[in-house]
Amino acid sequence: MSTVSKVFARSIYDSRGNPTVEVELTTDKGVFFAIVPSGASTGVHEALELRDGDKSKWLGKGVLKAVANVNDIIAPAVVKAKIPVTEQLKFDEFLNSLDGTPNKGKLGANAILGVSMAVTKAAAAAEGVPLYAYISKLAGSKDAYVLPVPFMNVINGGSHAGGSLAFQEFMIAPTGANSFSEAMRMGSEVYHHLKSLAKAKYGQSAGNVGDEGGVAPDISTPQEALDLIVAAIKKAGYEGLIEIGMDSASSEFYKNGKYDLDYKNPNSDGSKAITGSELGDLYADLCKNYPIVSLEDPFAEDDWATWSGNFNKLPVQIVADDLTVTNPIRIKKAIQEKAASALLLKINQIGTISESIQAAKDSFAAGWGVMVSHRSGETEDTFIADLTVGLRTGELKSGAPARSERMAKYNQLLRIEEQLGDKAVYAGKKFRTASQL
Ligand code: PGA
Ligand code: ZN
Repeated sequence: MSTVSKVFARSIYDSRGNPTVEVELTTDKGVFFAIVPSGASTGVHEALELRDGDKSKWLGKGVLKAVANVNDIIAPAVVKAKIPVTEQLKFDEFLNSLDGTPNKGKLGANAILGVSMAVTKAAAAAEGVPLYAYISKLAGSKDAYVLPVPFMNVINGGSHAGGSLAFQEFMIAPTGANSFSEAMRMGSEVYHHLKSLAKAKYGQSAGNVGDEGGVAPDISTPQEALDLIVAAIKKAGYEGLIEIGMDSASSEFYKNGKYDLDYKNPNSDGSKAITGSELGDLYADLCKNYPIVSLEDPFAEDDWATWSGNFNKLPVQIVADDLTVTNPIRIKKAIQEKAASALLLKINQIGTISESIQAAKDSFAAGWGVMVSHRSGETEDTFIADLTVGLRTGELKSGAPARSERMAKYNQLLRIEEQLGDKAVYAGKKFRTASQL
């Protein structure tokens, strides 16, 4: 029975150069590290990410309080409690009880999640199995392992890039590949074609990349972005084999009950803002004209009626991110209101691994898909790669096929696929229903 002998946290840096929490957890099996990611277009209902707010250091973004909460409060309590690391649920409930608030507002979700992730890694080592295999057992997933379709964010807009493009992410999804490694090769080739096309059409600076590694040309309409992607797919020779996903992250441009697609224009007076229904028509039109298979956060985080009202208009996967924030209560509501058909699963939105697994299970039970997701502020930690395989989600987004904090997850999935050999199934076109494969 493996228990924790030491927990230690430190402040390190994420991919945007902002402080984040790293946890080091020691058991008889070794030392296990976990690093917490951080979002930019965060949902208002997410669990609390504790920042110091002291503007004289790191512009207020320090995490020294969260680090101290691990070292001074969580560490001594965890060592004393002697909960076996293989009892994830008990462990996470214990962490939540130390916090005592509904949104992890006392200790910080960034403090709690680091410990929870490290416990899962320690438990996999205690059982002598790979992390994905251990998570599969924890979640009670079916036996055969499913490798996800990588939704690669190749054009960055919204709050992840400069320029005037309102929608945040344009992703390529190689659903027609035969394996995960083939999907990555196809994605990488399209990415490089896209970069050349963007530079040729919009100038050298169009090849500059945003927070998630996608190019960020100064374009203003979704049609321009989609035309570029379709041209790159064609140039690479993968028409029909690569489809498209989008994340509008529309809470960012929802103001006074309307959606302002011109919100990044400093001179915008808001007069071009459209209603939810008009935005729904725009998506329906885009779905007709481009090979789109997935739309994330098409509407704002509390605009429930617009989500439900437009659902039947949109014949693709509708992914809830800011709407549901990986929170069981909001997921339940979204299911009841028929607002979406898939969950975006971000472990730091809810703050423990047990609750993340429960969020996936609740979604699967309602016939929803689950897309595991990185954050725009990422690290070298590859936990979510194993999580997506363990949960059999069939889909994951981890940015462009570029920049090491993004590639770390894709590279880990390449290793897992290789390790599994014949036992690996690639989700392909069935990405949304992979849990049932
Ligand atoms: P975030 O963006 O990590 O900045 O929230 C990712 C997303 O919206 O899916
Ligand atoms: Zn999103």
